[in-house]
Amino acid sequence: MKYSIIGSSSKGNCIIVEDVLMLDVGLSYSKIKKYLPKVKLIFISHSHQDHLLSSTIKKIAYNYPTIKFLTGSEVVVEKLVECGVNKKNIYILKSNKKYDLGLLKVKLEELYHDTPNYAMKWEYKGKKGVYIVDTSNVEGLVARDYDLYLIENNYREDILEQHLKDAIDNDDNNKIFYLQRTIQTHLSKSQCDSFLIENMGSNSVYEYVHLSKYNNTENGDFDK
Ligand SMILES: [Zn+2]
Repeated sequence: MKYSIIGSSSKGNCIIVEDVLMLDVGLSYSKIKKYLPKVKLIFISHSHQDHLLSSTIKKIAYNYPTIKFLTGSEVVVEKLVECGVNKKNIYILKSNKKYDLGLLKVKLEELYHDTPNYAMKWEYKGKKGVYIVDTSNVEGLVARDYDLYLIENNYREDILEQHLKDAIDNDDNNKIFYLQRTIQTHLSKSQCDSFLIENMGSNSVYEYVHLSKYNNTENGDFDK
């Protein structure tokens, strides 16, 4: 399955699948505009700014009024309407229910974040993909033998634990709060890898998304 990652971190998320599907809009309009003429459907996982950037949504709503939006979150719907998206162009899906939207079949499943957030499973021309970001765990989520896995590998547990120990030693409360929130709202490499091992088939492809440089690489700079 063809895909391209335009951005995938807390600085802004946006991925294009098979030219027609856009996953999250957390980047500036100038970074994504060349993809928009072919995009038919935009999935917004949740309302955080790195996934739903209002200034960009406003421009999309104005310049591409036929693009449809898809979400499971009422908070997202409210924000999209505020940005000028016509309500009849927003599909609000119930989780765990399969929908046939013509162009593709989709199913949303609830994730574990600090605002309503959904994983998206889709089927396009017989191929299956799944997108999972910003979740503290993947309990209950199964996606066996999919063609494409776009899944969050936010932090390495050993690196984050070391950062937390240092922050506690230095009485750095802001950093302690940030690191604890990371554990409560994002997926670690070991959780991500376990999911992939349990679910991938012999022809499956995966891509790690939503990495934190600071918590995922040795000597990464603190960038939050
Ligand atoms: Zn988030």
